[in-house]
Amino acid sequence: MKANSTDSPTVPVATGFVSKVMQEKLARLGIVNEFDLVLHLPLRHEDETHLYPINDVPAGANVQVEGVIIHSEIMYRPRRQLVCQVEDGSGILFMRFLNFYGSQVKAYSVGTRVRLLGETRPGFFGPEMVHPKCRVVSEGVPLADALTPIYPTTAGLSQEAIRKLIRQALVHGDQADSLAEVLPVEIIEHHQLQGFRDSVMFLHQPPPDASVILLQERTHPAWRRIKFDELLAQQLSMRLHFQQRRSRSAPALPEKNKLTRSLLHSLPFELTDAQKKVFAEISEDLAAVHPMQRLLQGDVGSGKTVVAALAALQAIENGYQAAIMAPTEILAEQHYQKLSGWLAPMGIKIAWLSGSQKKQQRQVALADIAAGNAMLAIGTHALFQEQVEFDQLGLAIIDEQHRFGVHQRLALRMKGAKTGAVPHQLMMSATPIPRTLAMSYYADLDVSVIDELPPGRTQVVTKLVADIRRDEVVARVRESCHTGKQAYWVCPLIEESEALQLKTALETYETLTLTFPDLKIGLVHGRLPPQEKSAVMEAFKQGVIQLLVATTVIEVGVDVPNASLMVIEHAERMGLSQLHQLRGRVGRGAEASVCILLYQKPLSATARERLRIIFEQTDGFEIARQDLRLRGPGEFLGARQSGVPMLRFADLEQDADLLAAARTAAEEILRNHPASAQRHLQRWLGGKSEYLRV
Ligand code: ADP
Ligand code: MG
Repeated sequence: MKANSTDSPTVPVATGFVSKVMQEKLARLGIVNEFDLVLHLPLRHEDETHLYPINDVPAGANVQVEGVIIHSEIMYRPRRQLVCQVEDGSGILFMRFLNFYGSQVKAYSVGTRVRLLGETRPGFFGPEMVHPKCRVVSEGVPLADALTPIYPTTAGLSQEAIRKLIRQALVHGDQADSLAEVLPVEIIEHHQLQGFRDSVMFLHQPPPDASVILLQERTHPAWRRIKFDELLAQQLSMRLHFQQRRSRSAPALPEKNKLTRSLLHSLPFELTDAQKKVFAEISEDLAAVHPMQRLLQGDVGSGKTVVAALAALQAIENGYQAAIMAPTEILAEQHYQKLSGWLAPMGIKIAWLSGSQKKQQRQVALADIAAGNAMLAIGTHALFQEQVEFDQLGLAIIDEQHRFGVHQRLALRMKGAKTGAVPHQLMMSATPIPRTLAMSYYADLDVSVIDELPPGRTQVVTKLVADIRRDEVVARVRESCHTGKQAYWVCPLIEESEALQLKTALETYETLTLTFPDLKIGLVHGRLPPQEKSAVMEAFKQGVIQLLVATTVIEVGVDVPNASLMVIEHAERMGLSQLHQLRGRVGRGAEASVCILLYQKPLSATARERLRIIFEQTDGFEIARQDLRLRGPGEFLGARQSGVPMLRFADLEQDADLLAAARTAAEEILRNHPASAQRHLQRWLGGKSEYLRV
């Protein structure tokens, strides 16, 4: 759906003047059509509408003065610099340039009249401006009649150039009516919004009396209008995708209570109420004739796997296949083993697919999947590769969904599309999405939450230990392993180099082997051949290995209930959700569990803050919320980011009220003013929203 309406010509209208090179530069700023120029809003504004007398300049403010140069000199102390004195009748101001050209020395000669814009600070000789914006003027040159916008720009594109383009776009847009109001008057009134045209005009060319503070804080009504519009566009596109999904068909897979019931009977535990509730929600979705797209959230250890198994069985008892995809080989393999244990007794064949398996094994698995002999396929990324063809895929389950890219999730879903129907999709994640994100970027999904842990879990006690007290930690590990418990020793994350990380893991393993000659110690890391990896994991699970040295490959999903102690080295390097996930590997059995976070000083402010949070909090939702606060949504969104247009102007926390308003407005507009919704979306998103469907 590319723009063709008068709202958004696909090429800048100024194309007449704009060279190909310029177009490329603009594209780097995300500007591809005229309307993008209109929405290319200033980062800040400078006030060149007033002149301040030098002796009356407010300290610290970025203001303009004008005067005549009465002295100009290159000084060498403490380093080479150009120092000029400017006099305006009220006082003298020093201007200093630490880097300057010969041409400047020439231009700023005694007797020249200059206009300076900058921040005045008390200097050695008196008030001074360092590197002010300086313009030679003749007496009486008129002042700017609007605040000067400062735009985000890119190499080779000057403020002047982009300002000119934007001015043209505004003039042209005004004539072409593309700045016209597209929102219904009820919405404008109800939310007390400033007009669209007035708002963009105001932000690009604020009048001299505009409040620089309100502009800077982006709380001015003009800013609020723009942010509302942006949030509204996001809400509209999310809702439309939701509706589109409702208009596609999927196989109806109602609960038959055969296989699902027999799994429930065979489990050694009873589902928690939360598990029952979420399975009921999933079960109902599966029974519908539209594709489910549900996100199952549950903190680490809340028991999502069994819910996934039940969902798969509901598909299978309807004669459809299911697939479970996990981001790491260790996790996929663990699912394979666990589900084999549950499903094999029912006579259900499971196919295993991984990137590293032997060709022949793979051929057999592929054949089983294609023929429909295997009703369940479990694997890694290998599952959505081209050669994989399902007989009849009814349900795709994606564990730790945030680890996958948009394309990958889409690819798996397309696997079922050969019959024309789209398979249902269940995504699972232990990284809870904070409320503001759920309401915005994830608003097109249905969400189920497992909000309680299975009974009998013990709270994991978290300890922060400085690296210099390592010996105490070692003693603790020894004691724990000698009483029949098991422990993880997690090696530091080394982001810049995988090779270095591997080296560290090997060294840690060697050191610990020497430290604990009487313990059985294992090592897993990402580079281990899969067979060895699974052999080590199996030995740990069986209790043959007492201490498992691991890289962060064990971060997700690994489930060994007898492990009750975890040591994390260089915890200060790890992110919050990573620490939370790692810590979730213990506290899975009845044994009281401890997680020791070893850290090395000095700590950065953020690292200190992260450690404080992980020490104080055990609730994954709270940790995620704090994580969002520390990192902002961009990073948090990870894979989803690539598919969803990011918010440029609105801030989910600061503008939470606007988000709520945009949500209600979106509903109202779609119901009563569909044409208005279309124009608004076209204006804001153009062709940028195709990935939302995943
Ligand atoms: P996660 O949600 O992190 O994927 P898992 O599905 O791996 O959690 O479950 C963690 C552990 O809890 C597993 O050993 C699982 O068998 C067990 N478990 C799941 N549900 C229950 C329950 N209702 N009662 C007792 N144990 C359970
Ligand atoms: Mg899991």
